[in-house]
Amino acid sequence: MKKSFRFLLCLVALSYSTLASCQKQAVIDQAEVTRIITTLASDEMEGRMIYTPGIEKASAFIESEFEKIGLEHLEGLNSYRQEFNMYSLTNESTSVSINGESIKGENVIGMINSESMTIDDVASTNIIVVGEGDNMQAKFGQARNMKGKTLMLVNNAHGSLFRRFRGFFSRPSSVMELDEANGMVMVLTDVSEVKSLKVEVKNTLETKRLNNVAGQITGNRPNEIVLFSAHYDHLGIRGDGEDKIYNGANDDASGTTAVMTLAKYFKDTGKKPERTIMFVAFTAEESGGFGSRYFSQKLNPDEIVAMFNIEMIGTAAKEGTNSAWITGFDKSNFGELLQKAVEGTEYKFYADPYPIQNLFYRSDNATLARLGVPAHSISTTQIDVDPYYHQASDEVSTIDLDHMTNTIRALAAAAVRMISGQDTPTRVDPANVR
Ligand SMILES: [Zn+2]
Repeated sequence: MKKSFRFLLCLVALSYSTLASCQKQAVIDQAEVTRIITTLASDEMEGRMIYTPGIEKASAFIESEFEKIGLEHLEGLNSYRQEFNMYSLTNESTSVSINGESIKGENVIGMINSESMTIDDVASTNIIVVGEGDNMQAKFGQARNMKGKTLMLVNNAHGSLFRRFRGFFSRPSSVMELDEANGMVMVLTDVSEVKSLKVEVKNTLETKRLNNVAGQITGNRPNEIVLFSAHYDHLGIRGDGEDKIYNGANDDASGTTAVMTLAKYFKDTGKKPERTIMFVAFTAEESGGFGSRYFSQKLNPDEIVAMFNIEMIGTAAKEGTNSAWITGFDKSNFGELLQKAVEGTEYKFYADPYPIQNLFYRSDNATLARLGVPAHSISTTQIDVDPYYHQASDEVSTIDLDHMTNTIRALAAAAVRMISGQDTPTRVDPANVR
């Protein structure tokens, strides 16, 4: 007979505390799961887009839940908010003259991550010429990686691709750090030799704030961390359909709910864990992964023993309910350890069945994996056929709450030996992560 999760979790709780705490407190309760995901994915949260009142509400809700649970703040912080600045840049003007002749505005693209840049010294400027027969994309890739100020002269033969680039790079951009030293200007011209040069790029600069929400239970080994994460941002309000709110119930209110209920569960076991358990709701995953990037700069990644990044666990996987898949399965033995931990139960973990989709690189785990952390995303969505993925219809009504609750219970069980220090996943080799 297969053990049920309730039984397994009681055993887990026993190893932490008393039977009483197991029976009364340390449970992952489906009503709680339902309450949290329903709140996060409600229309009131307006799809949790960065820089909107909706995501502020979501942050405040997660903070208040962390407070109720009794999590500690991260070292150096006096709240659960891990805040950082973002710079929003919008091109105001780009003027270019080459060899004394000024170029029409529609034929220039200014790409700088600062408020302004002047380029007027030919000798110290990287000049890249894209001739008629050259591959513009490839040359662009090279030019973007060059240090300093770069001028790219694009032959008129590439006019249509140039205009697509111009459309893309004319949009406002968000960066975490301003960069005055490096920048690039593209010009559509048949000129390929530069004797004199005068370039002025101006942006309007707006400083904005973003925040992750983070808390922890400090263990006996404070510098060994088991991390549970998910992103709480989503796509906001867009389009002109009848339902404009992208509630993001599965993506990723489901993962955020898991992080919150796991926090409560491990806190309720009542005993100090061996390793520190950290719980983070990342911001801005959908807009460039800025939340996890900032987080990764604020601690020593060598201290993170394992990262459970939980992404879209609200609907049953291809292999059925009671199963979840793990991205980057062969990059560490994290997945194998999870499989072993739930052996004999009705739950199964298996390797990501959609390698072609590069999902290992499409969430916040990749940022930490690049630093050597066994950082994997755990998901149950059938991503190739999911009709709700990145649609306004990703609502709580589409969520299988039995399956989701079971998955959170399985994650709790699967993490126990890592939290107790009995299991330590092998590190990811950054050379195997692009
Ligand atoms: Zn997501």
